[in-house]
Amino acid sequence: MSLDLLILGAGVNGLLSALQLALEGLRVGVVERGEPGRESTWAGAGILSPLLPWDYGREVNALCARGVALWPEWIETLRDVGGIDPEYAVSGMLALSVPQCDHILAWCRAQGWRAQAAESAPAGLNVADANGIWLPDVAQVRNPRLARALVAACQEAGVRIWSNTAALGWSLSDVRIEALRSTAGELRAERYVVCAGAWSQALLPEAGTADIQPVRGQILLFGVEPGLLPCIVYRDGRYLVPRRDGLILAGSTLERVGFDKSTTQEAGEALREFARELLPGLRHAKPVQHWAGLRPGSPDNIPTVSVHPHIENLYLNSGQFRYGVTMAPACAELLCDLVMGREPALDAGPYRWRAAG
Ligand SMILES: Cc1cc2nc3c(=O)[nH]c(=O)nc-3n(C[C@H](O)[C@H](O)[C@H](O)COP(=O)(O)OP(=O)(O)OC[C@H]3O[C@@H](n4cnc5c(N)ncnc54)[C@H](O)[C@@H]3O)c2cc1C
Repeated sequence: MSLDLLILGAGVNGLLSALQLALEGLRVGVVERGEPGRESTWAGAGILSPLLPWDYGREVNALCARGVALWPEWIETLRDVGGIDPEYAVSGMLALSVPQCDHILAWCRAQGWRAQAAESAPAGLNVADANGIWLPDVAQVRNPRLARALVAACQEAGVRIWSNTAALGWSLSDVRIEALRSTAGELRAERYVVCAGAWSQALLPEAGTADIQPVRGQILLFGVEPGLLPCIVYRDGRYLVPRRDGLILAGSTLERVGFDKSTTQEAGEALREFARELLPGLRHAKPVQHWAGLRPGSPDNIPTVSVHPHIENLYLNSGQFRYGVTMAPACAELLCDLVMGREPALDAGPYRWRAAG
Protein backbone atom coordinates (compact mmCIF):
# COMPACT_ATOMS: atom_id res chain seq x y z
CA MET A 1 0.00 0.00 0.00
CA SER A 2 1.49 3.34 -0.98
CA LEU A 3 0.90 6.02 1.65
CA ASP A 4 0.62 9.79 1.34
CA LEU A 5 1.29 10.22 5.02
CA LEU A 6 2.54 8.14 7.94
CA ILE A 7 1.82 9.25 11.50
CA LEU A 8 3.89 8.10 14.48
CA GLY A 9 1.75 7.67 17.60
CA ALA A 10 -1.93 6.80 18.03
CA GLY A 11 -3.03 9.17 20.77
CA VAL A 12 -5.74 11.78 20.30
CA ASN A 13 -3.40 13.98 18.27
CA GLY A 14 -2.18 11.24 15.93
CA LEU A 15 -5.61 9.67 15.47
CA LEU A 16 -7.55 12.91 14.92
CA SER A 17 -4.89 14.15 12.49
CA ALA A 18 -5.06 10.81 10.65
CA LEU A 19 -8.86 10.94 10.51
CA GLN A 20 -9.01 14.50 9.21
CA LEU A 21 -6.39 13.82 6.53
CA ALA A 22 -8.09 10.57 5.50
CA LEU A 23 -11.45 12.34 5.24
CA GLU A 24 -9.71 14.87 2.96
CA GLY A 25 -8.81 12.00 0.65
CA LEU A 26 -5.23 11.15 1.64
CA ARG A 27 -3.95 7.58 2.14
CA VAL A 28 -2.89 7.62 5.78
CA GLY A 29 -1.12 5.13 8.05
CA VAL A 30 -0.46 5.24 11.81
CA VAL A 31 2.34 3.40 13.61
CA GLU A 32 1.69 2.76 17.31
CA ARG A 33 4.13 1.14 19.72
CA GLY A 34 1.41 -0.34 21.92
CA GLU A 35 -2.36 -0.40 21.63
CA PRO A 36 -3.87 2.82 20.19
CA GLY A 37 -5.03 5.49 22.65
CA ARG A 38 -3.63 3.86 25.79
CA GLU A 39 -1.18 6.53 26.96
CA SER A 40 -1.89 10.15 27.95
CA THR A 41 -5.05 10.16 25.85
CA TRP A 42 -6.48 7.32 27.96
CA ALA A 43 -5.27 8.78 31.27
CA GLY A 44 -6.61 12.34 30.98
CA ALA A 45 -9.67 13.87 32.60
CA GLY A 46 -11.24 15.01 29.32
CA ILE A 47 -12.05 18.58 30.39
CA LEU A 48 -12.35 20.70 27.26
CA SER A 49 -10.94 23.94 28.63
CA PRO A 50 -7.71 25.41 29.94
CA LEU A 51 -7.39 25.37 33.74
CA LEU A 52 -8.02 28.22 33.94
CA PRO A 53 -8.25 30.29 30.73
CA TRP A 54 -7.07 33.51 32.42
CA ASP A 55 -3.86 31.83 33.56
CA TYR A 56 -2.65 31.35 29.95
CA GLY A 57 -1.44 33.44 27.05
CA ARG A 58 -2.96 33.98 23.64
CA GLU A 59 -1.07 31.06 22.03
CA VAL A 60 -2.68 28.50 24.35
CA ASN A 61 -6.12 30.06 24.44
CA ALA A 62 -6.34 30.43 20.66
CA LEU A 63 -5.81 26.67 20.15
CA CYS A 64 -8.09 25.77 23.05
CA ALA A 65 -10.92 28.05 21.90
CA ARG A 66 -10.67 26.70 18.35
CA GLY A 67 -10.61 23.12 19.66
CA VAL A 68 -13.65 23.76 21.85
CA ALA A 69 -15.51 25.21 18.84
CA LEU A 70 -14.64 22.25 16.59
CA TRP A 71 -15.30 19.38 19.04
CA PRO A 72 -19.14 19.18 18.71
CA GLU A 73 -18.91 18.56 14.96
CA TRP A 74 -16.15 15.98 15.46
CA ILE A 75 -18.30 14.19 18.05
CA GLU A 76 -21.08 13.89 15.43
CA THR A 77 -18.55 12.59 12.89
CA LEU A 78 -17.15 10.04 15.36
CA ARG A 79 -20.65 8.76 16.12
CA ASP A 80 -21.62 8.65 12.45
CA VAL A 81 -18.40 7.19 11.03
CA GLY A 82 -17.20 4.90 13.83
CA GLY A 83 -20.41 4.29 15.78
CA ILE A 84 -18.94 4.93 19.27
CA ASP A 85 -20.16 7.79 21.49
CA PRO A 86 -17.31 9.54 23.37
CA GLU A 87 -19.84 10.89 25.95
CA TYR A 88 -19.35 14.55 25.14
CA ALA A 89 -21.32 16.66 27.64
CA VAL A 90 -21.50 20.37 28.36
CA SER A 91 -21.47 20.06 32.12
CA GLY A 92 -20.07 23.52 32.94
CA MET A 93 -17.24 24.21 35.35
CA LEU A 94 -17.30 25.98 38.70
CA ALA A 95 -13.93 27.54 39.56
CA LEU A 96 -13.64 28.17 43.30
CA SER A 97 -11.36 30.40 45.40
CA VAL A 98 -10.63 32.64 42.44
CA PRO A 99 -8.80 35.82 43.49
CA GLN A 100 -9.84 39.12 41.89
CA CYS A 101 -13.13 37.84 40.50
CA ASP A 102 -14.19 41.21 39.03
CA HIS A 103 -10.95 41.56 37.12
CA ILE A 104 -11.25 38.00 35.82
CA LEU A 105 -14.85 38.43 34.76
CA ALA A 106 -13.81 41.52 32.79
CA TRP A 107 -11.01 39.46 31.16
CA CYS A 108 -13.48 36.72 30.22
CA ARG A 109 -15.86 39.26 28.67
CA ALA A 110 -13.03 40.79 26.63
CA GLN A 111 -11.81 37.36 25.44
CA GLY A 112 -15.25 35.96 24.64
CA TRP A 113 -15.30 33.22 27.33
CA ARG A 114 -18.82 33.15 28.84
CA ALA A 115 -18.47 33.48 32.63
CA GLN A 116 -20.42 34.81 35.58
CA ALA A 117 -19.96 35.20 39.31
CA ALA A 118 -21.25 32.01 40.93
CA GLU A 119 -24.12 33.02 43.18
CA SER A 120 -24.42 29.61 44.74
CA ALA A 121 -22.68 26.27 44.58
CA PRO A 122 -24.39 22.95 43.85
CA ALA A 123 -25.81 21.24 46.96
CA GLY A 124 -23.33 18.91 48.59
CA LEU A 125 -20.19 20.94 47.88
CA ASN A 126 -18.24 22.26 50.83
CA VAL A 127 -17.50 25.78 49.59
CA ALA A 128 -15.40 27.79 52.00
CA ASP A 129 -15.52 31.16 50.25
CA ALA A 130 -17.71 33.08 47.86
CA ASN A 131 -15.15 33.71 45.14
CA GLY A 132 -16.54 31.38 42.54
CA ILE A 133 -16.76 31.78 38.77
CA TRP A 134 -19.23 29.74 36.73
CA LEU A 135 -18.14 28.81 33.21
CA PRO A 136 -21.34 27.37 31.69
CA ASP A 137 -19.87 26.29 28.33
CA VAL A 138 -17.12 24.00 29.59
CA ALA A 139 -17.61 20.50 28.18
CA GLN A 140 -15.98 17.13 28.77
CA VAL A 141 -15.40 13.83 27.00
CA ARG A 142 -14.72 10.40 28.43
CA ASN A 143 -11.17 9.62 27.40
CA PRO A 144 -11.15 5.82 26.97
CA ARG A 145 -14.35 6.06 24.92
CA LEU A 146 -12.93 8.92 22.87
CA ALA A 147 -9.88 6.82 22.06
CA ARG A 148 -12.03 3.87 20.99
CA ALA A 149 -14.28 6.16 18.92
CA LEU A 150 -11.24 7.61 17.14
CA VAL A 151 -9.80 4.19 16.33
CA ALA A 152 -13.15 2.97 14.98
CA ALA A 153 -13.66 6.10 12.86
CA CYS A 154 -10.08 5.94 11.52
CA GLN A 155 -10.57 2.33 10.49
CA GLU A 156 -13.87 3.15 8.78
CA ALA A 157 -12.19 6.06 6.97
CA GLY A 158 -9.50 3.71 5.61
CA VAL A 159 -6.60 4.66 7.91
CA ARG A 160 -4.18 1.73 8.25
CA ILE A 161 -3.11 1.33 11.89
CA TRP A 162 -0.01 -0.71 12.73
CA SER A 163 -0.55 -1.52 16.45
CA ASN A 164 2.28 -2.95 18.59
CA THR A 165 4.76 -1.54 16.10
CA ALA A 166 7.45 0.82 17.39
CA ALA A 167 9.09 3.52 15.30
CA LEU A 168 12.86 3.06 15.62
CA GLY A 169 14.49 5.71 13.42
CA TRP A 170 14.75 7.24 9.99
CA SER A 171 16.36 6.54 6.65
CA LEU A 172 17.32 10.05 5.63
CA SER A 173 18.72 11.45 2.41
CA ASP A 174 19.75 15.09 2.49
CA VAL A 175 16.53 17.05 3.11
CA ARG A 176 14.03 14.19 2.86
CA ILE A 177 12.98 11.18 4.86
CA GLU A 178 13.08 8.11 2.65
CA ALA A 179 11.57 5.62 5.11
CA LEU A 180 10.69 5.00 8.73
CA ARG A 181 12.51 2.10 10.34
CA SER A 182 10.10 0.24 12.59
CA THR A 183 9.73 -3.11 14.31
CA ALA A 184 7.57 -4.11 11.32
CA GLY A 185 10.40 -3.23 8.90
CA GLU A 186 10.77 -0.17 6.69
CA LEU A 187 7.59 1.83 6.08
CA ARG A 188 7.43 4.43 3.33
CA ALA A 189 5.22 7.46 2.73
CA GLU A 190 5.40 10.82 1.01
CA ARG A 191 5.26 12.62 4.36
CA TYR A 192 5.74 11.73 8.04
CA VAL A 193 4.21 13.28 11.17
CA VAL A 194 5.53 12.73 14.72
CA CYS A 195 2.59 12.67 17.17
CA ALA A 196 4.24 10.53 19.83
CA GLY A 197 3.21 12.60 22.85
CA ALA A 198 5.74 12.62 25.70
CA TRP A 199 8.02 10.36 23.61
CA SER A 200 8.18 12.69 20.58
CA GLN A 201 11.55 14.24 21.39
CA ALA A 202 13.43 10.94 21.12
CA LEU A 203 12.02 10.31 17.64
CA LEU A 204 13.19 13.56 16.08
CA PRO A 205 16.24 13.88 13.86
CA GLU A 206 18.84 16.12 15.53
CA ALA A 207 18.49 19.17 13.30
CA GLY A 208 15.23 20.40 14.86
CA THR A 209 14.64 21.08 18.51
CA ALA A 210 11.35 20.62 20.27
CA ASP A 211 11.48 20.84 24.02
CA ILE A 212 8.95 18.12 24.90
CA GLN A 213 9.33 16.46 28.30
CA PRO A 214 7.12 13.97 30.16
CA VAL A 215 5.04 15.42 33.02
CA ARG A 216 3.25 12.80 35.09
CA GLY A 217 -0.36 13.25 36.16
CA GLN A 218 -2.22 11.01 38.61
CA ILE A 219 -5.99 10.62 38.92
CA LEU A 220 -8.11 8.91 41.55
CA LEU A 221 -11.50 7.50 40.56
CA PHE A 222 -14.57 7.20 42.80
CA GLY A 223 -17.73 5.27 41.98
CA VAL A 224 -20.98 6.70 43.43
CA GLU A 225 -24.63 7.00 42.45
CA PRO A 226 -25.13 9.33 39.44
CA GLY A 227 -26.17 12.88 40.36
CA LEU A 228 -23.94 13.51 43.40
CA LEU A 229 -22.06 16.21 41.45
CA PRO A 230 -23.67 18.02 38.48
CA CYS A 231 -20.65 19.90 37.11
CA ILE A 232 -16.85 20.01 36.96
CA VAL A 233 -15.40 21.78 40.01
CA TYR A 234 -11.92 23.31 40.17
CA ARG A 235 -10.07 24.61 43.21
CA ASP A 236 -6.40 25.44 43.81
CA GLY A 237 -5.00 23.40 40.94
CA ARG A 238 -7.18 20.32 41.49
CA TYR A 239 -10.54 19.28 40.08
CA LEU A 240 -13.46 16.86 40.28
CA VAL A 241 -15.06 15.64 37.06
CA PRO A 242 -18.39 13.76 37.21
CA ARG A 243 -19.16 11.19 34.50
CA ARG A 244 -22.65 10.26 33.37
CA ASP A 245 -22.72 6.90 35.20
CA GLY A 246 -21.68 8.24 38.61
CA LEU A 247 -17.92 7.90 38.33
CA ILE A 248 -16.08 10.95 39.69
CA LEU A 249 -12.45 11.68 38.76
CA ALA A 250 -10.26 13.56 41.21
CA GLY A 251 -7.16 15.00 39.58
CA SER A 252 -4.44 15.64 39.13
CA THR A 253 -0.75 15.93 39.91
CA LEU A 254 1.99 17.65 37.88
CA GLU A 255 5.25 15.74 38.43
CA ARG A 256 8.52 15.83 36.53
CA VAL A 257 9.79 12.29 37.16
CA GLY A 258 10.92 11.25 33.70
CA PHE A 259 9.13 8.34 32.03
CA ASP A 260 7.99 6.79 35.33
CA LYS A 261 4.26 6.06 35.05
CA SER A 262 3.76 4.51 38.47
CA THR A 263 1.23 5.83 40.97
CA THR A 264 2.26 6.91 44.46
CA GLN A 265 0.54 6.47 47.80
CA GLU A 266 1.26 10.10 48.66
CA ALA A 267 -0.56 11.45 45.60
CA GLY A 268 -3.43 9.02 46.14
CA GLU A 269 -3.91 10.26 49.69
CA ALA A 270 -3.69 13.92 48.69
CA LEU A 271 -6.28 13.46 45.94
CA ARG A 272 -8.58 11.51 48.26
CA GLU A 273 -8.36 14.20 50.91
CA PHE A 274 -9.03 16.96 48.36
CA ALA A 275 -12.05 15.12 46.94
CA ARG A 276 -13.60 14.27 50.31
CA GLU A 277 -13.07 17.75 51.71
CA LEU A 278 -14.68 19.43 48.69
CA LEU A 279 -17.47 16.89 48.24
CA PRO A 280 -18.30 15.37 51.64
CA GLY A 281 -20.62 12.88 49.92
CA LEU A 282 -17.45 11.02 48.91
CA ARG A 283 -16.41 10.42 52.54
CA HIS A 284 -17.70 6.87 52.54
CA ALA A 285 -16.94 6.10 48.90
CA LYS A 286 -13.85 3.97 48.31
CA PRO A 287 -11.64 4.93 45.37
CA VAL A 288 -12.09 2.29 42.66
CA GLN A 289 -9.03 3.08 40.53
CA HIS A 290 -5.83 5.13 40.63
CA TRP A 291 -3.72 5.71 37.53
CA ALA A 292 -0.99 7.88 36.06
CA GLY A 293 -0.21 9.16 32.57
CA LEU A 294 2.59 11.16 30.97
CA ARG A 295 1.67 14.48 29.42
CA PRO A 296 3.76 15.84 26.54
CA GLY A 297 5.08 18.86 28.48
CA SER A 298 6.25 21.93 26.58
CA PRO A 299 7.44 25.43 27.60
CA ASP A 300 4.40 27.61 28.40
CA ASN A 301 2.15 24.77 27.25
CA ILE A 302 2.64 25.81 23.59
CA PRO A 303 2.71 22.85 21.19
CA THR A 304 4.64 22.59 17.95
CA VAL A 305 2.52 22.00 14.85
CA SER A 306 4.80 22.56 11.92
CA VAL A 307 7.01 21.24 9.18
CA HIS A 308 10.64 20.54 10.17
CA PRO A 309 13.03 23.48 9.60
CA HIS A 310 15.24 21.50 7.17
CA ILE A 311 13.55 18.19 6.35
CA GLU A 312 10.81 19.03 3.89
CA ASN A 313 8.59 15.96 4.39
CA LEU A 314 8.68 15.72 8.21
CA TYR A 315 6.08 17.34 10.48
CA LEU A 316 5.57 17.53 14.23
CA ASN A 317 2.23 17.77 16.05
CA SER A 318 3.07 17.46 19.73
CA GLY A 319 3.67 19.25 23.03
CA GLN A 320 0.01 19.94 23.86
CA PHE A 321 0.91 19.28 27.51
CA ARG A 322 -2.13 19.78 29.79
CA TYR A 323 -4.63 20.46 26.98
CA GLY A 324 -4.00 17.86 24.31
CA VAL A 325 -7.60 16.74 24.14
CA THR A 326 -8.98 20.30 24.16
CA MET A 327 -6.55 21.43 21.45
CA ALA A 328 -6.59 18.29 19.29
CA PRO A 329 -9.13 19.46 16.66
CA ALA A 330 -7.33 22.79 16.26
CA CYS A 331 -3.92 21.11 15.96
CA ALA A 332 -5.24 18.55 13.47
CA GLU A 333 -6.78 21.35 11.44
CA LEU A 334 -3.55 23.35 11.44
CA LEU A 335 -1.50 20.30 10.47
CA CYS A 336 -3.96 19.51 7.70
CA ASP A 337 -3.80 23.08 6.36
CA LEU A 338 0.01 22.92 6.31
CA VAL A 339 0.08 19.52 4.58
CA MET A 340 -2.52 20.59 2.00
CA GLY A 341 -0.77 23.93 1.38
CA ARG A 342 -3.77 26.01 2.53
CA GLU A 343 -3.82 29.28 4.45
CA PRO A 344 -4.18 28.13 8.08
CA ALA A 345 -7.38 29.03 9.93
CA LEU A 346 -5.17 30.18 12.85
CA ASP A 347 -1.91 32.13 12.88
CA ALA A 348 0.64 29.30 12.60
CA GLY A 349 3.58 31.45 13.78
CA PRO A 350 3.56 30.60 17.51
CA TYR A 351 3.54 26.85 16.79
CA ARG A 352 6.44 26.81 14.32
CA TRP A 353 9.31 24.34 14.72
CA ARG A 354 12.60 26.09 15.39
CA ALA A 355 16.00 24.95 14.10
CA ALA A 356 18.42 23.52 16.67
CA GLY A 357 20.42 26.31 18.33
C1 LIG B 1 -3.71 12.99 34.46
C2 LIG B 1 -3.93 13.75 33.18
C3 LIG B 1 -5.02 14.61 33.05
C4 LIG B 1 -5.24 15.29 31.87
N1 LIG B 1 -6.38 16.04 31.74
C5 LIG B 1 -6.63 16.68 30.57
C6 LIG B 1 -7.84 17.40 30.40
O1 LIG B 1 -8.69 17.43 31.29
N2 LIG B 1 -8.04 18.05 29.22
C7 LIG B 1 -7.13 18.02 28.20
O2 LIG B 1 -7.36 18.63 27.17
N3 LIG B 1 -5.97 17.31 28.35
C8 LIG B 1 -5.71 16.66 29.49
N4 LIG B 1 -4.54 15.95 29.66
C9 LIG B 1 -3.52 16.03 28.61
C10 LIG B 1 -3.86 15.17 27.43
O3 LIG B 1 -4.31 13.92 27.89
C11 LIG B 1 -2.62 15.04 26.54
O4 LIG B 1 -2.12 16.32 26.20
C12 LIG B 1 -2.96 14.30 25.25
O5 LIG B 1 -3.60 13.09 25.52
C13 LIG B 1 -1.72 14.06 24.44
O6 LIG B 1 -2.11 13.28 23.34
P1 LIG B 1 -1.03 12.76 22.33
O7 LIG B 1 -1.76 12.08 21.23
O8 LIG B 1 -0.13 13.89 21.92
O9 LIG B 1 -0.12 11.77 23.20
P2 LIG B 1 -0.43 10.29 23.74
O10 LIG B 1 -1.86 10.08 24.04
O11 LIG B 1 0.53 10.03 24.84
O12 LIG B 1 -0.10 9.40 22.49
C14 LIG B 1 1.21 9.25 22.00
C15 LIG B 1 1.32 7.86 21.42
O13 LIG B 1 2.60 7.71 20.81
C16 LIG B 1 2.98 6.34 21.00
N5 LIG B 1 4.42 6.21 20.82
C17 LIG B 1 5.42 6.67 21.62
N6 LIG B 1 6.64 6.29 21.14
C18 LIG B 1 6.40 5.58 20.00
C19 LIG B 1 7.24 4.93 19.07
N7 LIG B 1 8.57 4.91 19.18
N8 LIG B 1 6.65 4.31 18.01
C20 LIG B 1 5.30 4.30 17.87
N9 LIG B 1 4.46 4.90 18.74
C21 LIG B 1 5.00 5.54 19.79
C22 LIG B 1 2.55 6.06 22.43
O14 LIG B 1 2.47 4.66 22.66
C23 LIG B 1 1.21 6.78 22.49
O15 LIG B 1 0.11 5.92 22.20
C24 LIG B 1 -4.32 15.18 30.81
C25 LIG B 1 -3.25 14.30 30.91
C26 LIG B 1 -3.05 13.58 32.09
C27 LIG B 1 -1.91 12.62 32.17
